[in-house]
Amino acid sequence: MSRPSDLERLSPETVAGLAKAHAGATTCPACRPYASAGWESFPASQDGAALQPIGALWLPGDDEPTLEEHRPPGVDAWSPEAPISLAHHPCNRCEIWACRSCGFPFLRYTEYGGYYIDPRIRELRADRVVPGSIPQG
Ligand SMILES: [Zn+2]
Repeated sequence: MSRPSDLERLSPETVAGLAKAHAGATTCPACRPYASAGWESFPASQDGAALQPIGALWLPGDDEPTLEEHRPPGVDAWSPEAPISLAHHPCNRCEIWACRSCGFPFLRYTEYGGYYIDPRIRELRADRVVPGSIPQG
């Protein structure tokens, strides 16, 4: 799988700002196939050409970010109900992509299982971003 190697490093604040900038926006016909309130496997029917990389919260070579998660008890990490906590797993390893047509932002995360690689995608929704997950500067 080819991966962009020159992704820009994004701070959690930048990512939260990106989410806020598109709060209330809806996906357009180009990016609708990727729309998902929770983490879903990257749609096999799509080649991803409608999306362009914006940057990443984690870059190869960085220290391993925490595997700690931030979600209410009983809420699955891949559920639409799961908060987007940028300082916690899995968001702390995410790439940010945006629709080439409308700019709607998405989180992308690749799950490496023992015998599989599962690229996942989720809408970057401001109302799911946990304010407390952003380090205060
Ligand atoms: Zn779009």
